Amino acid sequence: MTAAPFSWIRPEPHGIHVAPADVWVDPSRAVPRALVTHGHADHARGGHGETIATPETLAIMKLRYATSAGARAAAYGEEVAIGGGVTATFLPAGHVLGSAQILLQHAGERVIITGDYKRAPDPTCAPFHVTPCDIFITEATFGLPVFTHPPIAEEIAKLLAARAANPDSAVLVGAYALGKAQRVIAELRAAGHTETIWLHGAMEKMCRLYEEHGLSLGDLKLVSDAGKDDLRGAIVIAPPSALNDRWSRRLPTPLTAMASGWMRVRGRARQRGVELPLVISDHADWHELTQTIGEVNPAETWITHGREEALLRWCELSQRRARALALVGYEDEDD
Ligand SMILES: [Zn+2]
Ligand SMILES: [Zn+2]
Repeated sequence: MTAAPFSWIRPEPHGIHVAPADVWVDPSRAVPRALVTHGHADHARGGHGETIATPETLAIMKLRYATSAGARAAAYGEEVAIGGGVTATFLPAGHVLGSAQILLQHAGERVIITGDYKRAPDPTCAPFHVTPCDIFITEATFGLPVFTHPPIAEEIAKLLAARAANPDSAVLVGAYALGKAQRVIAELRAAGHTETIWLHGAMEKMCRLYEEHGLSLGDLKLVSDAGKDDLRGAIVIAPPSALNDRWSRRLPTPLTAMASGWMRVRGRARQRGVELPLVISDHADWHELTQTIGEVNPAETWITHGREEALLRWCELSQRRARALALVGYEDEDD
């Protein structure tokens, strides 16, 4: 008896189950065996029996969870047999260091699970690799036409202009500790900003991890080591949660910025008290999502992890087979 096409891949509320191998992709709870696309907390939970991921993602998980039990590394492009006649190949997703799409192959059928991804250039990670497949399971965090991310150079120029206009202030930039912070720093360097960049303590280890993986971030120092005058006219990077808490009061007349795709929405910036919204996202915007589905050109697109409805409608209007998945437990650590 032959199984129905693609019956081996099952979207369940807590992740995608690969039945013949009894493996879960990015499960939102601890499982015996997991494939993990990247290190953000909503994808990489701790406590799995075995975790198969890229070496960079495993290093990030080790840093975050202080354990590497059951870790099995899969380099980009390496076809890994995971049991039950299924192979898994990790391919660059362009999202953060080590981020991968996972190509699963079984009985001549090819399924790609993108995890989070973007198409815009990013000096801190390998670019998204367009790969043919039958079913393409795409994220849709910014799956509305209103979401367009400007070129990052424009947003970095705004940041540097604000700094130049406020020489007595510290420019405090809220950025997620994994990925966004390092990308903002690397782009500041690329724009010619060579001065010390000051870090909140929560950023330090992840920045060092990126440097150990070959990305040079220039002169970084901790705010806790600064004299008050050191921070005048300086750029300070902190997690978004630190923007409005006691921690930021030590900074000289801080000017608050935030680097996030959500900064496109004025209300979100206002809510957080952000004076300088920077639309910098590590996710595909609407144009990148539709461009990618067009280039990959799968027989079927499954949409998850965000705003599914508009992208579903776009697929229908472009005569593409598509469905929305209802996975739970994915919040944006990483916008
Ligand atoms: Zn995510
Ligand atoms: Zn992510």
